[in-house]
This record gives sequence, structure tokens and C-alpha cells, in this order.
Amino acid sequence: MRGNTVFPGLLVMSSISLSLYNRFTQKKEVFSPNNPDRVTMYVCGPTVYGPIHMGNGRSVVVFDVLFRVLRYLFSKVTYVRNITDVDDKINAQAKMLEISISDLTKQTTAQFHQDIEALHVLPVTVEPKATQHIPHMIAVIQALLDKGMAYISQGHVLFDVLKDSCYGALSGAHAEEILAGARVEIAPYKRNPQDFVLWKPVAEDDQEFWSSPWGDGRPGWHTECAAMSREYLGVSFDIHGGGADLLFPHHENENAQSRNAWGVSCPVKHWVHNGMLMIDGQKMSKSLGNVLLLKDALTQYSGSVIRWALLSSHYRHTLDWSASLLHQATQCVESVNRVLELPWDGKLCVDADILAYLCDDLNTPGALNSLHLLAKRALHDPDWVPAVHTCAQFLGIHGASICLTQEARDKIEKLVKEREYARGEKNFQYADELRKELENLGIVLEDNAQGTIWHKRV
Ligand SMILES: [Zn+2]
Repeated sequence: MRGNTVFPGLLVMSSISLSLYNRFTQKKEVFSPNNPDRVTMYVCGPTVYGPIHMGNGRSVVVFDVLFRVLRYLFSKVTYVRNITDVDDKINAQAKMLEISISDLTKQTTAQFHQDIEALHVLPVTVEPKATQHIPHMIAVIQALLDKGMAYISQGHVLFDVLKDSCYGALSGAHAEEILAGARVEIAPYKRNPQDFVLWKPVAEDDQEFWSSPWGDGRPGWHTECAAMSREYLGVSFDIHGGGADLLFPHHENENAQSRNAWGVSCPVKHWVHNGMLMIDGQKMSKSLGNVLLLKDALTQYSGSVIRWALLSSHYRHTLDWSASLLHQATQCVESVNRVLELPWDGKLCVDADILAYLCDDLNTPGALNSLHLLAKRALHDPDWVPAVHTCAQFLGIHGASICLTQEARDKIEKLVKEREYARGEKNFQYADELRKELENLGIVLEDNAQGTIWHKRV
């Protein structure tokens, strides 16, 4: 497979195409990227004010599977998942804990990485932080002001929703529903209640703010993703993902900004949303006291068991998290692990059924069921062992959890950057030495136009 470290050496099965449900057209469509030589995907990442819960974990795992499938089918995939490190929730939490915003976001980001690595999630190509892209956000807002789609009022810059005739097309919300559904706060600085904030003026007790042509303040959340996707993927890209709870208003507002700021009718080809996660049939909420943090679940179950449970329902459906789901997932992972302990000559063998399930709008329940059946077969017939190894690895199901400490991660990142610098300086001998050093640490490197991405060998 071209440029793919998940299944090195395998040939791309060009006859297989991926079908994906597109929320915009509300149809399952054959995925055809703008440029097959560079597939582009943006997924909304976490707001780093605290550890992620199982619902966030589901979204990360679903899009990790999609990333793996895309990497299998296409030569190059650029996957951007942002870190939202400027937000009201972050300000409130830092104040409550009496720590600086940067300490809070640093700690929370490290926890996020640790949690998702335990679920065998591959590193993304680019992980932009909102605070490092404020000038890009200012550029989006300026472009909207220049086009008459935004206005300044009492230190705020707001998007003028009524001026956008396509507003609501993505989420299917109509003007009245937008008003009712969004439960928008009627604010004196808004021309119309449904208008959303692009730039917010600094408040008296704000720890962190930036200067802009409209005064000191900070960007609105919806502007962050519009700016960062544009920066790394261009004005039009292939897939935008996120949880179904982000469809309105976040994605609708992101889409409205991108369309109007850059004058493109369709900034995103496929909008992909994963369904929600319930706990024992109930919505997860602070008021019910049933918020399940991923880090807490990982003290009881292995990353593979949690990953299996998260993928055991189709991504578009609601997933009900329960003891019986975990019991079932544990049994399935154990049967796969029994095969993974058997000797294997390293021969790779993709199971066509599993691939077909995954290419059919990411039918992970079908793929996991096939893997479970393969594992049962392999226990009696060693001919099936390579297929179990290959497919378990592809789906991110394997025995040991690969958890890196922040210290190890910092060391690796330092070496990777040093190597990139050496390559830039054409000091290839030193770059090779650094590659070897990283290899000895079990790190696999992948060089691409954006730089180098790395992951721990599985
Ligand atoms: Zn977003």
C-alpha cells in the first residue's frame, strides 16, 4: 500500500470504493475526493478545559477508523483535528482551579493525548491549536466584514445571518427553527437574535485576549474551525467530521463563514457526523451525574475493549453504553487476543469482507463481527492467523495498550523536530542517525509535505 504504515507492503485494491453518508445531501454517496492524490479531512477536536468523556472518545475513534480506511484507499491523506484552547469554559475552569489558562490547556491536552493513545488512535497529520491561529481568524472576520456579511457592534463582530440566503442548508434548520432551536440569547448588540459572534470584546476579568482591528478580545468558537480548516486544507476540502451535536449551530455557522468569506459554494464535499452516546439508556449529563470520563473507564477496561465497544454500533446510530456491552466487547477482544498470542510470520492478509464492511459507510459492527468469526476460525486453523493479525491491527484492536507518558512524547517530538531541521539543512547523515534513534524507541516516521508525523509501532 502506498505510503501507508498500517499495512506496509499491501497493494491498494483499486476496485473498492468508499461510500459515505453525506449529511449535506442526506444520502449515502461514493466518496470521490477533490484530488485523489491528497485526500483532506477536518474533524472538530476537543475544547481542552477538562478530560474528555466517552462521547468525545466515540467521535475520535470513529474518525480514526475513517482515517485508516482513507489511508488504505488513497496515497496521501491530510487529517486535521484541532485543539480548541480558547473558550468561555476554559476561562471559567482556570478561574475555578486558580491556575493559568496555559497551564490548564497544556495539562488537558496532554491528558487528551494519553487517553486517545490508549484507544490506539493514530496521530493526526496536523493538530492546530486555536491560540496559534488568531491572525487567521482575524482574516476570516475581515473577509466577512469586507463582503458585508458581518457588522461591528459594541466591540463585537457578528455574522449577519439574514444576509446569507443559504444559511440553514446544512442542518436543515429554517429561520423560525433557528431562532427557537438555538435558544439564542437576545443581546443588545445583535441586529437580529440569530446572529452569531465572530469576535468578542475582552471582559474585565479575562486572563487572555488578543488585539484586533476591532479592539482587544477573542474569536468566537465557530470562527476557529473555519480559519484552521482553510489554513491547512484550503477553501474546499473533502470531509468535515464531528459529533451530531455539533451540526447546529457549530457546523452551520462554520459553513456559513467559509462559504461567504472565500466565495465558495461548497467548502466541504462530505459532512460526516457520528451519533450520540447514552449511558444505560440515559443521556449523559452533569445534572444526572452520569458523565463517564474516558480516563476513568481506562482504569477498568483495556483500550481495545473500550475501542471495540465504541465501534460495536454503526457510527450514525446512538450507542448505548452499558455493562452488557462491555461484557460482550471483553469476550470478543479476548478471543482475538488469543489468536494474537499465536506465532505469526508477519505475512499480511486483509479480509475482503472486513474491508467491504468498512467501505460501506464504515459498517464497523459488521467488520468487528467478521473479525470475531475469523478469530474463532483461526484458533482451529492456523491459516487464518495472518488475517486476524492484519485486520485486528487495521481496526486498532490489539493486546497491549500503547500509552506514552508526556515526558516520552516530549522527547520524541524533540527528536522528530531536530531531524526535520537536519533534513532542511540537507544534513542527511545526522537525520538518518536521528531516524535510527527514533526507530530504537519504537517510533515509526512518515514524511509528507506538511512535515513528519510519527506513531508508536504497534
Ligand atoms: Zn469545529
